[in-house]
Amino acid sequence: MLARRCLSFSRPAHARSLSTRASAILSALDIPIDKELAGVYHGEWTGSGDLLESKCPTTGEVLARVRSASPEELHAALHKSREAYQVFRSIPAPKRGEILRQIRVALASKRDELGALVSLEMGKIRTEGVGEVQEFVDIADYAVGLSRMMNGRLVASERPGHSILEVPNPLGVVAVLSAFNFPVAVYGWNLALSLAAGNATLWKPSPSTPLCGIAVTKIVSGVLERNGVPGAVAGLVTGDKDVGAGIVESQDVDMVSFTGSEAVGRHVGKVVQSRFGKVLLELGGNNAVIVMPDADLSLAVPAVFFGAVGTAGQRCTSTRRLFLHRAIAPEFLSRLRALYASLLPGDPLAPSTLLGPLHTRAAVGVYSDAVARLQTVGAEILTGGARYDGAALGSPLDGGNFVQPTIAVPPTVDMGDAVWRTETFAPVLCVGVFDALEEAIAWNNGVPQGLSSSLWTRDLRNVGKWIGPAGSDAGIVNVNVGTSGAEIGAAFGGNKTTGWGRESGGDAWKQYVRWSACTINFSDEAPLAQGVQFPSESTA
Ligand code: NAD
Repeated sequence: MLARRCLSFSRPAHARSLSTRASAILSALDIPIDKELAGVYHGEWTGSGDLLESKCPTTGEVLARVRSASPEELHAALHKSREAYQVFRSIPAPKRGEILRQIRVALASKRDELGALVSLEMGKIRTEGVGEVQEFVDIADYAVGLSRMMNGRLVASERPGHSILEVPNPLGVVAVLSAFNFPVAVYGWNLALSLAAGNATLWKPSPSTPLCGIAVTKIVSGVLERNGVPGAVAGLVTGDKDVGAGIVESQDVDMVSFTGSEAVGRHVGKVVQSRFGKVLLELGGNNAVIVMPDADLSLAVPAVFFGAVGTAGQRCTSTRRLFLHRAIAPEFLSRLRALYASLLPGDPLAPSTLLGPLHTRAAVGVYSDAVARLQTVGAEILTGGARYDGAALGSPLDGGNFVQPTIAVPPTVDMGDAVWRTETFAPVLCVGVFDALEEAIAWNNGVPQGLSSSLWTRDLRNVGKWIGPAGSDAGIVNVNVGTSGAEIGAAFGGNKTTGWGRESGGDAWKQYVRWSACTINFSDEAPLAQGVQFPSESTA
């Protein structure tokens, strides 16, 4: 029996044949269901560029058609962003924090509705959709506090009567290019810090999640308007890669914060660097879990299950590689397979569903290719390995992108092989068996990516190795915690081909400001640093 509860598909007579399931969610967020939507906001809503279609990954239903930004509209949005920045930068940081507090309240009041939209448009299960909005709420809270703590420093000067200040000032226009899989939270991480720092932020969401972009921007812009702040402080340009490329190339953008694939990020990084702009890259991961023989399997098995299958394997932090100590490998796999066997695909909006669809048809192709590659190299497929049968799913889920979560044991553990070193953005988990922790750490580090990693052990000596200089080289190094599901308090990001970017907590805010070293002379002398002598007017 497939989980298909709560899937009401009657169609209201008045609307563009939209299911009641979808129209209820859109209406709750004041998104019109009977016309093309404007996909550009820079103080007013507009949009006359290419048409984007928002498609429900669960059913294939077209949720909305959105007019993206034309080149002229992108230009206008950038111009308005610059103007907005020039106003906003002079508002004291704690006053900006008060605006953020109001944004936090407005978002929290729509948490469930927005969470449902994430689930509808992106395809992740409802609890994860709501959790994603909660992340935005949390980072807004954090940034409210930060707005009173974005401190510079007073540095001791070697010269008498001198002081050196390190001063953070607003940076300018920050563009956020985001991926489909976190259509709300990634923008939230960026907007909250950027706004606290006094910048104007221009968001280009993924072309397949424009509705999340529109819904969030409506909420944020309402707060800005009520505070008499220019709407272009938090602008929106929907569009495909042409719009993204226009942003990346523009000298009017001081920093590009890019979240997406390694292939696109590599290009974006080079283009921004070539014009000496600032760039923050959050790219793909290929995350490993290592399980030692002393691990508590009652915690480790469910953590791997969630890491590999949650969001249908479409988190940058999803668990893709599992390294099991030989002593516990058979038992671990048998327990993990039992959990996989309990999974049922279903409507992500239904409370009981744990497995939603992949986001697009193309992603199903990527999944099938990865499984075929595993079969070609002789991997043992322990479970999964195929799409779900549409006829068995029944209407309307037969229009969705459902695939079976897969566990594979490749014949060799060779991180030079594509089956191990490629990020397949789908629920495919590759398993290897090791004898010594050092071997597993070498495998963990042996891929190009460096986002998240997780060790399961009760032995403090293993923990020391894992988090120390010869340990995991990833940006996220967990112990008895899975690879996915980070909190906002720590800086989030990855090393190596994941791009070295850091967002959210920690010191991440320091990237959203321009730093000046200001040496101030309060004395009646003007000595040079390092004791350098040069004639003054009296000695010349
Ligand atoms: P993608 O690279 O296809 O798209 C990301 C964004 O880039 C989109 O907004 C897209 O329109 C835009 N874009 C595409 N071509 C462009 C170009 N030439 N110039 C400028 N912009 C362009 O990524 P995706 O498929 O949406 O997302 C999945 C990927 O994102 C995965 O690799 C995943 O690991 C990664 N991701 C990383 C993090 C992280 O924090 N490290 C978080 C979420 C997702």
